[in-house]
Amino acid sequence: MKQTDIKSLVNYVALKILGGSDYLIEALEEYLVKGEGPATVAYKYNISKHQLRGYAQRIIEKSGSEGKAKKLVPILKAISEGITPIVKKENDGSYECSLCNIIIAKEDSEEHIRKYHKEILNENINIMMQRLEKIKKDLQQNKAVIFTSAS
Ligand SMILES: [Zn+2]
Repeated sequence: MKQTDIKSLVNYVALKILGGSDYLIEALEEYLVKGEGPATVAYKYNISKHQLRGYAQRIIEKSGSEGKAKKLVPILKAISEGITPIVKKENDGSYECSLCNIIIAKEDSEEHIRKYHKEILNENINIMMQRLEKIKKDLQQNKAVIFTSAS
C-alpha cells in the first residue's frame, strides 16, 4: 500500500487556502467523505466538475488511497481552521493579494504565494503540522486508555 505523504498534503492544502481556494476542504468533505454528487458540489463552490475531481485526485494520491483520504480530509479540516487566504477573491471575480494590493490571475495566485509570501506559507504549514502532532498524540492516549480499561 502507498504511504501517506502528510507533509505534501499539508503543503498542498496550505497553499490552496492562502491562494484563495479556501473552499477546498469543505468541497472535498462533501464530495469525497459525504459522497455528494460532483455536479452539486462543483456548482455550490463555483468551480468545474473537472477541477473538483482534480483536487480529489491530488488528495487521494498524497493520502495513498481513497480510504485514507476520506479519513484525512476531516483532520486536514481541523488543522487548517482559522487559516485565511492572502489572495482573496473580490466581488467582481478577480483575485487580489491583500498584502501587495495587486490583482492576480487566479491561476497565478499559488505561484505568487510561493514566491512572495513564502514565510507566511511556511508559518502556516508549521502551525498545521503542530496541530497534527497534537491530534496524533491525543489519539494515541485514547488508544492507551481503551487498552488499559480492556485489560
Ligand atoms: Zn502578495
